[in-house]
Amino acid sequence: MQTSPEVSAHVPNANTPVLTIDNLSVEFPAYRSTVKALNGVSLHVNPGEIVGVIGESGSGKSVTAMLSLRLLPERSYHVSGGSLHILGRDMLAAKEKDLLKVRGRDVAMIFQEPMTALNPTRRIGRQMLDVIIHHQHLSKADARAKAIGLLRDMHIADPEQVLENYPFELSGGMRQRVMIALAFSCDPQLLIADEPTTALDVTVQRQVLLLLREKARERGTAILLITHDMALVSQFCDRVYVMYTGAVVEQGATGEVMVDPRHPYTRGLLSGLPEQVQPGEDLMTIPGQVPNLAALPAGCTFRDRCQYAMPVCSKRPPLQAIDAEGLRKSACWLTVQEQSS
Ligand code: SF4
Repeated sequence: MQTSPEVSAHVPNANTPVLTIDNLSVEFPAYRSTVKALNGVSLHVNPGEIVGVIGESGSGKSVTAMLSLRLLPERSYHVSGGSLHILGRDMLAAKEKDLLKVRGRDVAMIFQEPMTALNPTRRIGRQMLDVIIHHQHLSKADARAKAIGLLRDMHIADPEQVLENYPFELSGGMRQRVMIALAFSCDPQLLIADEPTTALDVTVQRQVLLLLREKARERGTAILLITHDMALVSQFCDRVYVMYTGAVVEQGATGEVMVDPRHPYTRGLLSGLPEQVQPGEDLMTIPGQVPNLAALPAGCTFRDRCQYAMPVCSKRPPLQAIDAEGLRKSACWLTVQEQSS
């Protein structure tokens, strides 16, 4: 883990990204090997933006999310290069007391299963009041009024009753609404949502995500949505980063990536969407498996699964800009050839 004695921070403005990750590489030492979880990842989230990070298991998306708030066990990983800033604060160098200020106040996180984030032995009200009082220094009465307002805002009909409930007394969808209320309770500038609705059924999933987006837009909160579900990205995100084996392989405005995917891996993810398939046809899947992160092949790591692989693919392709602003990029030799022709 890289450290430096001072933690720098500055006041963000509308043009300063709330999250900036620059060329970040992270390794997990394992028995006789090293798992290369992130390999030069760069991404950013602007104020108020909803940005998706998509990829299969082992793509590095959840490591990126967890590391953003330094939620991984400190001795379990090694940062071999790059930087990560939230609101100008160097998160890789931040001391624990600074991290505590950032977590919950500036940045909140919503996890896949709220039962693991909520304390099962304490009433919802106690848990919400603790967070609000800790970060906002309100009286108990004001904190309770704020908690009720937040729950009502999440379209919870009887917030007073929910404050008296234990988490296990609520449905999965209701628990996730409570988690979203808790996440918004300190008016964070960034909300990191790691597969926030995977544990819910499809109808509730959509309701919860619509609510999340509506409340984020109202408050100007940015969201980093971590998901394996291309359909969610297409419906909810302004921009998307596609990750594979710990690297960004494609990025751009969601509409552009959906309509004109440039990387064969992105095309593979999109071909698994039901709307891409004619009635009676089987859903497409990407053949093969994600390679072992402890023994990544040289060159393009998607090579063994790619129908377009060619000799040059034994060299790692650069993340090549497709547009003049450099917001739309793809890491594939096909893109390099298209851009140079
Ligand atoms: Fe396929 Fe080559 Fe592009 Fe990799 S670089 S995705 S192997 S065409």
